[in-house]
Parts: sequence; structure tokens; C-alpha cells
Amino acid sequence: RAKKQGRNRVCFFSEELEHDLIKRHKVEKILRDSLEQNSLEVHYQPQVDLNTGKIIGLEALVRLKAEEQGWISPLDFIPLAEDLVLINQLGGQVLRKACKFAKRLVEMNAPIKMSVNISAVQFASPNFVSDIADCLEECSLPSRYLELEVTESALMHDFEETQVILTELSQMGISIAIDDFGTGYSSLSYLKAFPVDVLKIDQSFVKDMMQDSQSLDIVKTIIFLANSLSLTLVGEGVETSDQADTLQQLGCLIVQGYLIAKPEPEQTILTRLC
Ligand code: C2E
Ligand code: MG
Ligand code: MG
Ligand code: MG
Repeated sequence: RAKKQGRNRVCFFSEELEHDLIKRHKVEKILRDSLEQNSLEVHYQPQVDLNTGKIIGLEALVRLKAEEQGWISPLDFIPLAEDLVLINQLGGQVLRKACKFAKRLVEMNAPIKMSVNISAVQFASPNFVSDIADCLEECSLPSRYLELEVTESALMHDFEETQVILTELSQMGISIAIDDFGTGYSSLSYLKAFPVDVLKIDQSFVKDMMQDSQSLDIVKTIIFLANSLSLTLVGEGVETSDQADTLQQLGCLIVQGYLIAKPEPEQTILTRLC
């Protein structure tokens, strides 16, 4: 861009770059401090069964608080945490907070499945499975209450290694969800080879399906695929009742999205469930 706009724009370009670097540096500092103090927050977004209206699951979503500018988006600090080799520490803290909360809900007689996002880097790290086992033990959480969300791309690095890891997790009683399903570049054959339990229909398809017949066709195809393979479906990013009605009619009965609830702190979830 600098070249196209001529020599005199080079200065502007470097200012922009400098701004990015300052921002990155600020986020890095807040991230390191939060990890050191174990003060990352986790919010929880309900997953609801449309037929009963009941909350059947929660997705844990990490939150990083910046003093002045409110919240920093995970889309801004997860990649940074991966670059800085902090993602395992971050993932471990989120997992523990989520499992502790899930255990608390079990004790309060409101047992619910807790779904935790796992980054590709975490998934590829050698201690991944034993970390998960340690966490469940520390929290005394029965494994059937834990679900791990991974993206297709996270599963595609090493087919055989992934198969071993997922099989171990599955044998432990943990369920596996494919996040943002339909947006990856992978072949579908992995659905046959890996013990997958849940497909989460990416929110971009849900968002576009009311206006765009191709997106609707993709949603129908994903639902058909999930039903054929006996996988559970979750529709993500549901914002309108039209979207919810359409998903329900097509056979996607579990949804999450702003229509039902935004990701919320523990206290708000407790008032919903208990
Ligand atoms: P994701 O796992 O696909 O999570 C769904 C994202 O959509 C969340 O954004 C959620 O707040 C947002 N969302 C939920 N309902 C709606 C809706 O109705 N409309 C719209 N427009 N958005 C909705 P969030 O919390 O900003 O997280 C973004 C991404 O960051 C997540 O996408 C996930 O990939 C990643 N992420 C979040 N928490 C963690 C974590 O603890 N570990 C890892 N590795 N990644 C995380
Ligand atoms: Mg997710
Ligand atoms: Mg998603
Ligand atoms: Mg995502």
C-alpha cells in the first residue's frame, strides 16, 4: 500500500505499524499480568434445546480485561498467546476455571455439559491429554461433563497423532465438538476416522442462510451429514427468532447465540440455572 500511494506515504505507513506494535505490546503486558495473577475471566454462553427451552450446555469463552478500553477480544489475544508460547498456560487456566464452575453446578444440582475451546497449538502439545486428565481429577469433575471444541484445522496437522489423542479423550468419556464446522479446508473423511460427537454449524452460515440460498443449502447439508452419522448439532450465532425457527424446522435443535444469551459471568449463569 505504501508503494502505491507514493513515497510521501511511507511515513504514514510506519506510523500505522508503530501503532500496531504499541497495541500489541500493551496487550502482551496485560496478558502476561493476567496469566501471572491467574486473573483471566471466563464467561459462559448457554446452549439451549429449542424443543424444551432448557439450557443443556455452556461454552466457556475467555475474557481479558483492559483497564481503560474495556475488554480485549480473544481474536486479538489468542493468536498473540500462541506466538508468545503462552497458550498452554492460558488454556490450562481457562480449563481449570471452567471445570471448577462445572463441578460447582453439579454440586448445586444443575449439572450441565461444559464446552471448552482448545487452540491448535494446545492440541499439538505433548502433555495435552494428561493435562486434561489432571484437571478433571483436581476438580473432581466426572468426564461426561466436559466437551472440548477444536477446529478442523487443529485436527489436520498429523492425522495419526490426532486419531490417537481423540481416541484417548473419547475413552476417558470426554466429548469432542468440531467448532466452526464448514469453514475449514479438510476432507470429510476424518469424521469417519475420529470419534467426533458434535458439529457446531459456523455462525457465518446461520447469519447468511435467511438471505442466501447457498448458505441455507450448506446448513441443510451439514444437518443431513450430522444426522446420517448420528452426531449432535449445535447452531452457532443465532441472533433472530427466524434463524432459530429455521434451524428447528431443519432438525438442528440445539442453538447458542445472542437471541438466547450473550456469554455471561458465573454469577449471571447461576441465577439462570439455580
Ligand atoms: P468460537 O469458539 O467460535 O466462539 C463463538 C464466538 O461467537 C464468541 O466470540 C461468542 O461470543 C460469539 N457469539 C456468540 N453468539 C453470537 C451471536 O449471536 N452473534 C455474534 N455475532 N457472535 C456471537 P468470542 O468470545 O469473541 O470468541 C472468539 C473466538 O475466540 C472463539 O470463537 C474461539 O475460537 C476463540 N476463543 C474464545 N475463548 C477461547 C479460549 O478459552 N481458548 C481458545 N483457544 N480460544 C478461545
Ligand atoms: Mg467455540
Ligand atoms: Mg465457533
Ligand atoms: Mg471461531
